[in-house]
Amino acid sequence: MTAGGHEQVVFVTDDAVGLRAIIAVHSTALGPSLGGIRFWSYPDEDAALVDVLRLSEAMSLKAAAAGLHQGGGKAVVLWDDPARPRDEPFLRALGRAVDALGGRYIAAEDVGATPADMNGLALETPWVTGVDGPGGSGDPSPVTALGVVAAMRAVAGALDGDPSLMGKRVVVQGAGHVGGHLVHLLVEAGASIGVADVRPELVHQLVRAHGVDALECETVLDQPCDILAPCALGGVLDRSKVSGLRCRAIAGAANNQLLDAATDETLADRGILYAPDFVANAGGIINIAEEFTGYDRGRALERTAAIEATTTRVFALARELGVPPGRAAETMARRRIAEEGGGRRWRPGDPAAWTNGAPLRSVRPPAASSKAV
Ligand code: NAD
Repeated sequence: MTAGGHEQVVFVTDDAVGLRAIIAVHSTALGPSLGGIRFWSYPDEDAALVDVLRLSEAMSLKAAAAGLHQGGGKAVVLWDDPARPRDEPFLRALGRAVDALGGRYIAAEDVGATPADMNGLALETPWVTGVDGPGGSGDPSPVTALGVVAAMRAVAGALDGDPSLMGKRVVVQGAGHVGGHLVHLLVEAGASIGVADVRPELVHQLVRAHGVDALECETVLDQPCDILAPCALGGVLDRSKVSGLRCRAIAGAANNQLLDAATDETLADRGILYAPDFVANAGGIINIAEEFTGYDRGRALERTAAIEATTTRVFALARELGVPPGRAAETMARRRIAEEGGGRRWRPGDPAAWTNGAPLRSVRPPAASSKAV
């Protein structure tokens, strides 16, 4: 396995505290790389490496498509025992590894991580977001849900010439942090909603609060609807699954919804409009990136609402290039990295970002990481 175009990959081992991790910086062409730390039980180190390389590249695309002055990075911690507590020495060691990159990688929460972990990292490094405290951006899920609604508005506009979701039938897979907020927002927008989750109590809450329809997990993806919103796991759609779909469009929060690029083609062949996941679910990272300029909730929400315009631009580019939307979104992101980033590599002390070679603003560690744990 080689690093495909990645700027830097760091293996971290600290036997004294039982730490094994990999930090991958895919690109800093648009600014310091930002991405979550994933705690996961991998079969071996090779599997962890494959995952971190793939995830960090996806973060570059997500940040670029969202118009952020941020690169893509990710960290994975080989975490074999989910019951093992994470003590201060362990988190300090991980924090020192992040700190050694001098801001080229900025940590955030990902699967398996908690705000308490971020607090522990902040004892050793300012380059961490999502810490409890003043200036922090808090739970990103409500903002991610807002971004998904923005993507759905673009979908409705493309399908019917009107971005309103009033009267649209939306089926949501997964009523967790994002899915739950999404249902609330869709109810406000006047949509008709069906929802399924492997945890029935989450669905029952939404049924009680909003009178939405409870659906079966086994058949949720095959329900007739205007928009299907995968908000649970990745890889839920492959070519065989697409043949059974009865939706007109797909827009949801889950990362890597399509198993492969061929599924993007198959959806387009079937006339199902796909709002690319890394465009639709960028609200969370847009929210976190606001911490670098002094967190302003209003500005974060405004930038998240712009996902509607971004998604519309992706659909237009797809038509122009004659490619499916997933490929168009990737093309759009890679073009921005090449044209605006111009092959730069961010170094400690550099300004946060550049436009036409001029510093755009100076970088500063996230406001939340005042080491006040
Ligand atoms: P979550 O764990 O809170 O919610 C996921 C929900 O999906 C859970 O309630 C779970 O019970 C349910 N689920 C799992 N398998 C299911 C199945 N087969 N059928 C139906 N429901 C199932 O996670 P979340 O934070 O809401 O994130 C949802 C997705 O969005 C994830 O893929 C995540 O990576 C992605 N995402 C989240 C954010 C964010 O801000 N939280 C940002 C970007 C992307």
